[in-house]
Amino acid sequence: MKKINKKDTEEFRQRLLMTESEIKALLGQTVQDSKPVDLDLPIGRLSRADAMQMQNMAALNKRQMEIKLKQVEGALSAIEQGSYGSCRKCNGEIRPARLEARPETPFCIGCQEAFETG
Ligand SMILES: [Zn+2]
Repeated sequence: MKKINKKDTEEFRQRLLMTESEIKALLGQTVQDSKPVDLDLPIGRLSRADAMQMQNMAALNKRQMEIKLKQVEGALSAIEQGSYGSCRKCNGEIRPARLEARPETPFCIGCQEAFETG
């Protein structure tokens, strides 16, 4: 099985930091101004794909964004503590493919499913 190494962890960290600042920007936006992102505006270094992604994220409700932000922050501190990639509930390994899909996830698939089905 593929293990996550230092380089992978650094990539996840970069992605998490980006997600963190996107969510913070969006949360700030919903408070001050809830206008949708205008795709015709010059958006500097952001690509159209990034802008679309941000629009998708804007569609998430504020509560979901806050939960995701908490998970992102938790994942970032897990990286700092060297515990990233371990499930916070059962301490088992979170599969790299799952981390690639959702770098902020705090649980392995088994615990997540148990959690979602109650
Ligand atoms: Zn678990």
